[in-house]
Amino acid sequence: MNIPPAETPLEAAAAEPAALEATGLGKQYKGEWALRGCDFTVPAGRICGVVGPNGAGKSTLLGLAARLVAPTEGGLRVFGEPGATAELRARVSYVAQDKPLYPGFTVAETLRMGRELNPAWDDEVSHRIVEQGELRMRARIGSLSGGQRTRVSLALALGKTPDLLLLDEPMADLDPLARHQLMGTLMAEAADRGTTIVLSSHILPELDGVIDHLLLVQRGRIRLAGDLDDILDGHRLLTGPAEAPAPPADVLVERRVGGRRATALVRTDAPPDGPWEGERPSLEDLLLGYLRSPAAGQPSATLNDEAAA
Ligand code: ADP
Repeated sequence: MNIPPAETPLEAAAAEPAALEATGLGKQYKGEWALRGCDFTVPAGRICGVVGPNGAGKSTLLGLAARLVAPTEGGLRVFGEPGATAELRARVSYVAQDKPLYPGFTVAETLRMGRELNPAWDDEVSHRIVEQGELRMRARIGSLSGGQRTRVSLALALGKTPDLLLLDEPMADLDPLARHQLMGTLMAEAADRGTTIVLSSHILPELDGVIDHLLLVQRGRIRLAGDLDDILDGHRLLTGPAEAPAPPADVLVERRVGGRRATALVRTDAPPDGPWEGERPSLEDLLLGYLRSPAAGQPSATLNDEAAA
């Protein structure tokens, strides 16, 4: 009998279908495109940040992945699955911005509901998240603050032991201490179980040191997508005298002059020309550079002007 050689963990990960794979993905609401022409892949096991200004299409993207929103065109495979099967739903947890919970339930009843609805429920992790926040098990959901409800939602989402955890602006209403603590718990759980996390956030420092994959969404388009280190390695933050000649337009993302110094974010890993000095940008430098220059490298028309043209 032929026994195939054992797979290494690396081979196993490479063989697994991507957590998300979008091809030509678009979503229209009442004739207006919220997302269009999106092509990207998020490999399994990644912590992916979805970043972009208000109205960019981040929630729509997460809703498509959670199968709560149907695409108008193109597709988004989740672990290779193009549709919305019960098996896939069991593998995915989604925490929406509005965090729907039953206000009349107590915290204990909410967790019990999670246990009864989810065959792979982890009581230990869900209780730990609630207890870290010093929430009383007998407190009614309706009496909790926004941040406390977030904690219960995250306890439900993690208790399900999903393979993919989708978090839409999860930490916005938490105080910095709770945010730090919950982020730590999320990351430790993800590392233990190989969970893929896709989280949208406005709070850029919240993502630094946490994400290893990036989707930058602007005006319904994917502007940057890929491994975070590769993206950062492919950019330079230049500093130079105010009169330094502007870098070539085809690589320039953003240039700012303050007093006698100028800075420029460029999309190249080549050493800078002329009087510029270059360094690898931080995540915040990169994101702010792109967010401040929504039109750089893009047609000036908006998504819906383009669609109408
Ligand atoms: P973000 O999460 O980045 O703030 P959204 O995905 O919520 O962006 O929204 C993208 C665009 O789609 C916005 O112009 C928004 O008004 C529109 N949109 C989102 N959801 C709906 C909906 N249910 N009905 C109509 N328009 C919507």
